[in-house]
Amino acid sequence: MRAMKADYHVHSSYSDDSSTSMERQAKQAVRLGLDELCFTDHVDYGVKYDHDDPMLQAYPYDSNVNYPEYFPAIDDVRSKFSGKLTVKAGLEFGVQSITIKQYEELYAKYRSKLDFVLLSVHQVDNLAFWNQHYQSGKTQTEYNRGYYEELLRVIQNYHDYSVLAHLDLIVRYNLKGAYPFRNVRDVVAEILRTAINDGKGIELNTSSWRYGLTDTQPCREILKLYRELGGEILTLGSDAHSPDYVGAHIDEGREILRGLGFTRFCTFEKMRPVFHTL
Ligand SMILES: [Zn+2]
Ligand SMILES: [Zn+2]
Repeated sequence: MRAMKADYHVHSSYSDDSSTSMERQAKQAVRLGLDELCFTDHVDYGVKYDHDDPMLQAYPYDSNVNYPEYFPAIDDVRSKFSGKLTVKAGLEFGVQSITIKQYEELYAKYRSKLDFVLLSVHQVDNLAFWNQHYQSGKTQTEYNRGYYEELLRVIQNYHDYSVLAHLDLIVRYNLKGAYPFRNVRDVVAEILRTAINDGKGIELNTSSWRYGLTDTQPCREILKLYRELGGEILTLGSDAHSPDYVGAHIDEGREILRGLGFTRFCTFEKMRPVFHTL
């Protein structure tokens, strides 16, 4: 039997950094023979604003998902592609320890519509990584450890999510070069133990190929550690913001996971993991 193929990290024009319609992403998924796709558009409280926040007038390019339009749009794509592609409703929450309450409220409001939530840390103290606002003025040790310590604080206090997205994201923006994993291994292990004990998982984010990272994301050391600690819940996602990356490197990712001894990966249905053979 052919193994089922799913992409569990896909963005559309409901994210402020994508201009691709949901329909184009879904069409591409069908073209590539994917069985399932989960939309995971961005919410980043602290640096972006909700559709009904007056601040959005001043910062129109920094918007969170427009929820009242987002979920019906997913329903439309789901029925349009019915029989060809399973379409799931997710969000990518860029949580910080200072914005936890906003995510708890958001999740409470839309939980019945959600299949899946990615938990990411994209910024700390409202300072983003992609533009180096967080890293600047810090030593390499300060910003690397600071990132993981913030992620740990978040998941010790926040529980409305499915898996940790791109767990070693800071690697992507490490202008000062590679930072030794052994220097953060203790805090990463604590992050993994916390997630496992909470019934959560991690994601293999295949955008590492297009960013030219030298390892997978998260790196193989983290994947191995996750397995050693008993972690079983794993999703794979391309983090595609345009059709050219939908489904990209998912097959290679699966092979790498199999090589590390994993035998299953997950899709999600109403926030519950469904296991499949890798
Ligand atoms: Zn992300
Ligand atoms: Zn993403």
